[in-house]
Amino acid sequence: MADMALRDILIIPDKRLRQLSEPVKKVDAGIRTLVEDMFETMYDAPGIGLAAIQVGVPKRVVTLDLAKKEEPKSPQVFVNPEIVWASDDKAIHEEGCLSIPEYYGDVERPAQVKVKYLDLEGKTHELEASGLLATCLQHEIDHLNGVLFIDHLSKLKRDRVLKKFSKAAKRAAETA
Ligand SMILES: [Zn+2]
Repeated sequence: MADMALRDILIIPDKRLRQLSEPVKKVDAGIRTLVEDMFETMYDAPGIGLAAIQVGVPKRVVTLDLAKKEEPKSPQVFVNPEIVWASDDKAIHEEGCLSIPEYYGDVERPAQVKVKYLDLEGKTHELEASGLLATCLQHEIDHLNGVLFIDHLSKLKRDRVLKKFSKAAKRAAETA
């Protein structure tokens, strides 16, 4: 196995988080290394989902692990994930994001989605998801399109969060 490496997670208002990620043309060794690093970074954070752009790589790659603490690890990889169907009925889940640390908000999204994606062998799969998995997939696919979960909140809430993180980034830059 190649050496895995922790990568830095981008925090808002980092502009790269607003970038549109490019589809992966070929699932090669470079993508597999990226995925290994993403898992290591995600588990270390700790978090349950990560999009490649959150470690500064604008490629359509998502890692997830929704296993509970006492359960064995259950890593899932989605290359070029695409929502091909979404239910009319909605569900509200509290969301958080490794790029917006220690902030949580209720987001309403379709309760079920069908997602088409490639695995690490480049094979196409389709997955029907509901509950937490449906929420996480939509949250991570949003990242690939430069969308953050705070974009689904009211403007008032979003502006408040953005202001808080912009101030913190400015302070950090001044003391660096
Ligand atoms: Zn996120």
